[in-house]
Amino acid sequence: MSAHVTARIDLGALAHNVRVLKERTGGRKLMVVVKADAYGHGLVKCGQAAVNAGADYLGVALLEEAVALREGNVPGPILAWLNTPNDRFAECIAREIDLGVNSVATLKAISNAAYSVDRVARIHVKVDTGLNRNGVTLADLPDLIVALSKAEAEGTVKVVGVMSHFAYADEPSNSTIADQIAEFKTAVDLLEAANFELEVKHLANSAATLALPDTYFNMVRPGVAAYGVSPGEEVGMAKDFDLKPVMTLCAPIVLLKKVPAGSGVSYAHQYHTTTETTLALISAGYADGVPRSASNLGPVLVGGEIRKVAGRVCMDQFVLDVGDLSVQLGDEVILFGDPERGEPSVEDWAAAAGTISYEIITRIGPRVHREFINNSW
Ligand SMILES: *Cc1c(COP(=O)(O)O)cnc(C)c1O
Repeated sequence: MSAHVTARIDLGALAHNVRVLKERTGGRKLMVVVKADAYGHGLVKCGQAAVNAGADYLGVALLEEAVALREGNVPGPILAWLNTPNDRFAECIAREIDLGVNSVATLKAISNAAYSVDRVARIHVKVDTGLNRNGVTLADLPDLIVALSKAEAEGTVKVVGVMSHFAYADEPSNSTIADQIAEFKTAVDLLEAANFELEVKHLANSAATLALPDTYFNMVRPGVAAYGVSPGEEVGMAKDFDLKPVMTLCAPIVLLKKVPAGSGVSYAHQYHTTTETTLALISAGYADGVPRSASNLGPVLVGGEIRKVAGRVCMDQFVLDVGDLSVQLGDEVILFGDPERGEPSVEDWAAAAGTISYEIITRIGPRVHREFINNSW
């Protein structure tokens, strides 16, 4: 018996996308971002698949995500860049996880933790070049450099990288991009003038990796593109870049019934049948990540045709008006997958829900069964 909702994860497609991204950047290093459970696709399986396909680094936000990769025996360089004050620094350092540093306070915590486990922490300096979110400003960078030099001399840390993040990469012609590149170069120069040996310099997320070659430096750091999803309309469609969607979200029909014309469907009767028809009940709801804001709008492939959700998306279920389509109890409907196979896309659901594709995939809930296919190892 199938699960009530299945996210089918095509690890072959992920491997393909990793190779495409690597080729695109002409042999630069590639960090594949696998934060947030690999954007909802499954952290350890996707991390391992990315490494096998040639990713040079894995990137995560949280230290606990990096630890989970190591607990899953995923090898190779890993960077975690978003820490909290009493985070698992010592554990990460002992497990050879690189850490982002955004301030003197974070550096102190990391340096103390490194001392406690008698290891050298590998540091990427996270610079704020204009997003005004995480990272050290250029104004504060000189003080951090002094503290980093001292910690390197004491043998608790080694500065191996510098990174920053764009505000507007999904608008490739936005004027802030050139400003951020210039600030990043200044930060690189300051760090190199202080004699840090920077192995990796990385600024480009997916949008920049696809659209802005001037941002590559010697490593790029895409996330969403690796999952075959476009970072935004202005950048282009995933298939324009030969990227294949990795996730297909499907659920079975669990009930079919005839109802008369004029029947109000689901909570608050926001959909009414116009003829006598057949309703199909699908066991997937907003607790699984099907956005409630896509009520009456979300497209679903059922019986070979695209139908929109009929009425409200509920917590565990929604309804389709399948009319005369030839469908049977237990048939699988597809919410999104590969548009090349005639399936709706993640981008279609984002438009229907009034959000971005990132939110659609990262919200696929823990109750959804992940089925991994085309696993080549
Ligand atoms: C999430 C994230 C990325 C990846 O972004 P995409 O748009 O998914 O490519 C890269 N760098 C940082 C700092 C991030 O937070």
